[in-house]
Amino acid sequence: MRFRSTRQQAPRVDLADALRAGLAPDGGLYVPEQFVAPPGSLRPLPMLAAQALAPYAAGTALATELPALCAAAFDFELPIQALGAHVAVAELFHGPTAAFKDYGARFLAGALSALRASDEPERCIVVATSGDTGGAVAAAFAERPGFRVLILYPDGRVSPRQAHQLACWPDNIRTLAVAGDFDDCQRLAKTLLARGQVGGLRLSSANSISIGRLLPQYSYAVYLALEAERRFGRSAEFIVPTGNLGNAYGAILAQRLGAPIARVVLATNANPTLAEFHDGAPYQPRAAIATLANAMDVGAPSNFERLRDLFGGDDESQRNAVPVIAVDDDAIRDAIRRAHREHGYLICPHTATAVVAAERRREAGSSAPQLLYATAHPAKFDTVVEPLLGQTVPVPPALAALLARPSRAIRVENEIDAVIAAGF
Ligand SMILES: *Cc1c(COP(=O)(O)O)cnc(C)c1O
Repeated sequence: MRFRSTRQQAPRVDLADALRAGLAPDGGLYVPEQFVAPPGSLRPLPMLAAQALAPYAAGTALATELPALCAAAFDFELPIQALGAHVAVAELFHGPTAAFKDYGARFLAGALSALRASDEPERCIVVATSGDTGGAVAAAFAERPGFRVLILYPDGRVSPRQAHQLACWPDNIRTLAVAGDFDDCQRLAKTLLARGQVGGLRLSSANSISIGRLLPQYSYAVYLALEAERRFGRSAEFIVPTGNLGNAYGAILAQRLGAPIARVVLATNANPTLAEFHDGAPYQPRAAIATLANAMDVGAPSNFERLRDLFGGDDESQRNAVPVIAVDDDAIRDAIRRAHREHGYLICPHTATAVVAAERRREAGSSAPQLLYATAHPAKFDTVVEPLLGQTVPVPPALAALLARPSRAIRVENEIDAVIAAGF
């Protein structure tokens, strides 16, 4: 199987090269040249994922590694909680850093490790993060021979527990708290990655455009589609909290390739880019605005180009196929309170956008059963959730273990030379 760039100006490569490169050399995003229908019978996630991804790894050293890779990357629970007769919540946050990004980061790290020759020089993974990506990538690469990680995050703009989790790692991970916002961090990371290396150390990206993060998200969408169909007796509508469109792309791909999903609905926060596009405006990226669902504070969703490619550039059919529902901070607060009051269920601010979007779909006449993605554990966002509920949120053991470690980020100016001096 070969992968092509969404911009069509780069050579086709196999999965191994697409993983190592991150972005295609023409600035586009890698997508498979052909799509293969997913498996149709339910199995445990690691087995099903290996089966679903096999066609894409064909012809690379990863082909034989997939079963072991998926078993190691997805070795934690994926519970599904009922929230009423026709609504279920898929808890994607039971990995080491308590957010769904553990799936993609662990798969990518395992794949890059498997592809690495033992005599290959060290590689540094550079990642700009608005909160959850950095921790997941750090956890996935911590103490992996041959890899270092450099994390850039906006100082003061992530939750205190996210900040702790970004900087509590062994020596092969270095964390910089940048005096700037997420876009500044992203720009600094891009500047570094464009150089390709610093002082002889080769740099690679792990941001959400990596196909190595999307494929695992596609594989659990297939699993959840089959599991939801088994529970509800028919295919469910998936509601996905969305920022950079990585998680949602996996679900939309699964649906278009034939997995039993009635529809994929995007739930966003108050950042309006996707909702405006859905309502008929031309696609127009904007500056990100800060909301309670900070991991979705995105004004220029990085996978939009990939989604548009999936629809062959036909914006109208994309708008019809993929509804977008924007949820503001007041509605997020209200949903967190009501989920607790009505169901005794604790949700994070991101998952709250899915809860509200699901309600609005039902009010608008949708009668399909609904599967909501829960993208982070509420204990990660205790400073938002606890004051609303007037009680503490129990911390899951994996997160408690991280919070018990010492944590130290290096503060740096928003400036490339300062980043290089502190980072390498
Ligand atoms: C990253 C993240 C999202 C958004 O996912 P995308 O793939 O960027 O759309 C939603 N919720 C949480 C908790 C996240 O960490």
